[in-house]
Amino acid sequence: MAEYHNATHAAAALHFEDARTGALNPPIVTSTVYARDQNYQQREHRGYARDQNPTGELAEAMLTQFEHGAAAMLFPSGMAAATAVFRTLLAPGDHVLVPSKGYFTLRNWLQRFASQWHVEVQFVDTTDLASFAAALRPGRTKLVWLESPANPTWDITDLAATTELAHRAGAYVAVDNTTASPVFTQPLRLGADLVMHSATKYLAGHGDLLAGALVTRIDDEPWQRLRDYRRYDGACLGPQEAWLLQRSMRTLFVRVHAAARSAATIAAHLQRYRKLKVLYPGLADAPGHAIAAQQMHGGFGAVLSLQIGAIDDTTQARGLLQHLQLFAKATSFGSTESYVEHRYTIEGAAGGAPANLLRLSIGLEAMEDLIADLDAALRIGGVV
Ligand SMILES: *Cc1c(COP(=O)(O)O)cnc(C)c1O
Repeated sequence: MAEYHNATHAAAALHFEDARTGALNPPIVTSTVYARDQNYQQREHRGYARDQNPTGELAEAMLTQFEHGAAAMLFPSGMAAATAVFRTLLAPGDHVLVPSKGYFTLRNWLQRFASQWHVEVQFVDTTDLASFAAALRPGRTKLVWLESPANPTWDITDLAATTELAHRAGAYVAVDNTTASPVFTQPLRLGADLVMHSATKYLAGHGDLLAGALVTRIDDEPWQRLRDYRRYDGACLGPQEAWLLQRSMRTLFVRVHAAARSAATIAAHLQRYRKLKVLYPGLADAPGHAIAAQQMHGGFGAVLSLQIGAIDDTTQARGLLQHLQLFAKATSFGSTESYVEHRYTIEGAAGGAPANLLRLSIGLEAMEDLIADLDAALRIGGVV
């Protein structure tokens, strides 16, 4: 592939052209069965649909390109992709490091997985290099899982530095790159071994598709084991969804850049209100800003959080949420429309989200409308 920008590769879906018809959009192959030829040979090594349906291969090639990897695999959800990594790469007795702040459902699942599989899951503050280094156990830590910016406070982990420490201890490094998206961060270029995506978020981008993906830096033995896992586990994305994903990724770069520009403006605007604490890695005084500026290129993402009132008090955050008109009161992020969510209500006290925190996912509405909605809610709520 020529040295085009990834936005160019995205727009043309890697310049796909159907060899027979010249169609510029790929067909959806629905067949589960593939006939052998005259000599009883398989064509293109295809026999049966499970992981041999060709429809998802374009989306996989696009993700491989965007992440600068060697290969990619689609899964039916982000969780299916993430859990495949833990189940495949860990054996009983192994030690794994996972961020103490990060995607809630994965942390929940890991606690169950750890007790059933006799794997030692240790949650660590990956934003603090000293505690991260101290938690590594050379020879025993087989996997390090990273997420940056991390849900829902958007803390920044130094991906290059943690990866180097992990590799020195002999651990394999996987990064959940859902929040940054390959538009802003390419962890494989920073040394990570594997990238995981909830394609449900920015990659699909319209709130209408559940999908996941893994991308590997090199086609190594762990990758082959992951391939086998997907084949035997049957965790394959259906052709309709796979097709929709490649269609959505054609606009990935424009969508994510637009949403992130709005998010940066909204964060700066909200920061002027003294009663609000705004969490967004693009703000110059955010704790992780310097590292974010190194490892995020062209933007700082389209999610931000704000804190209002006492840290253990839900009243003002819940009040403000009720006054918002334009933001859908919904979980998730990365869709065309904006969402607001009170994480503490979802996770409960054990989840670790501050009681006074609201998470905003910025969509593709006119930024002025989003700011007006926030300002009106803050005024009605008596905050400003
Ligand atoms: C949503 C999400 C997941 C899980 O993905 P699903 O597609 O919902 O299964 C994992 N990590 C992060 C950061 C997410 O936001």
